Amino acid sequence: MEFLIPILHSNEELGFKDNLDLDKLGEKLIEEAKEVQSAINCFLECDDVGFKSKNIGDIVEEAMDAIQIGIGILNFCMKEDGQITKERMKAHLPKLLKRGWLVENVLRVEEF
Ligand SMILES: [Mg+2]
Repeated sequence: MEFLIPILHSNEELGFKDNLDLDKLGEKLIEEAKEVQSAINCFLECDDVGFKSKNIGDIVEEAMDAIQIGIGILNFCMKEDGQITKERMKAHLPKLLKRGWLVENVLRVEEF
C-alpha cells in the first residue's frame, strides 16, 4: 500500500500563512486529538453493525488529520534545527524498542 502525506504550506481560509505557527499547530493537534477520541467513542458506543464501517472511516479520517498536524510540527522543527530533528526522528524507533514495544510492521516515510 502506498499513500501520500503532504507537508502543507498555507491555507488562506484557515489563516495559516506558512503553516509554521507552532502555537496554532499545537492548538490544532489538541483539536484533532479530541476529534479522534470522539470518533473512537462513537465506534465503541455503536451497536449497529451497519454503522461500524462508517465509524471506522471516521476514526481513520481523524487519525490522519492528527498525523498531518504532527507532520506540520516536525516540519517546523526541521526548519528550526534540521540536525537535531533528524537525530531525534532516527532515535524514535530504538527508543520504542528499548521501552519493550514489539513491532507489527514498519512504514517507510520518504521525502521526494
Ligand atoms: Mg479532523
